[in-house]
Amino acid sequence: MRELRFAANWKMHIGPDEARAYLRAFRARYDRREDRDVWFFPPAVSLEAAAQAVRERLDLSVGAQDIYWEPKGAFTGAISAPLAAQAGAKATLIGHSERRHVFGESDEDTRKKTVAALAYRLAPVLCVGETLAEREAGHTVAVVKRQLTAALGSLDAARLAQITIAYEPVWAIGTGRNATPRDAASVHCEIRSWLTTRGAARARVLYGGSVSLKNIAELLAEPELDGVLVGGASLDPEGWAELVQIGGA
Ligand code: PEP
Repeated sequence: MRELRFAANWKMHIGPDEARAYLRAFRARYDRREDRDVWFFPPAVSLEAAAQAVRERLDLSVGAQDIYWEPKGAFTGAISAPLAAQAGAKATLIGHSERRHVFGESDEDTRKKTVAALAYRLAPVLCVGETLAEREAGHTVAVVKRQLTAALGSLDAARLAQITIAYEPVWAIGTGRNATPRDAASVHCEIRSWLTTRGAARARVLYGGSVSLKNIAELLAEPELDGVLVGGASLDPEGWAELVQIGGA
């Protein structure tokens, strides 16, 4: 059976009360399906409320949008893997393009965050993807492999198998422009071959970038895609429930 993962990145939206209301509405609209799980990435202030709201549903999980690699200390504004876990997080995004391009996160930062996440049993979702200039220069695969190698190159096969990769071309995030399903699938094949040569062929590879109700069917028609990471189209609980329900039907 093909297993799909649907990940919702709420970015800087949806406070604790709104998270409770959102997840009530989502749960009312979406019944568990054996072939898929749904991960929600609320802002840090809403982690605990969201985790509480899904605690009776094993198919629904909550994760952090970012963590810092140190477990504790004088790092104002940051949250660590153990703090996120204490609030109910089971996973964390790492190296989202907004972290890399707005906040200046480096490849080396993504490596340290991945190691910290694994140490505290948070499932890492490593985001990789090229800018428009890199794509137009023909560097897509080189950029993605550099990001994979920097963050994950030192992990053994067992640890690598615990990682979810999200291929998110930077030019497709929040722009309404998505990669064609064939283009996405061809980068996914490259990622899969990188994982396979390191003994982790079964790690999940998601696609992200302006995924919506309009394009979910054609994207998930590509067997290379193990699911999607979605920003804008995940903010409305009814629309998101429908997308999860029909995606890869
Ligand atoms: C994202 O935030 O990871 C994302 C893919 O956003 P959007 O779906 O809005 O493009």
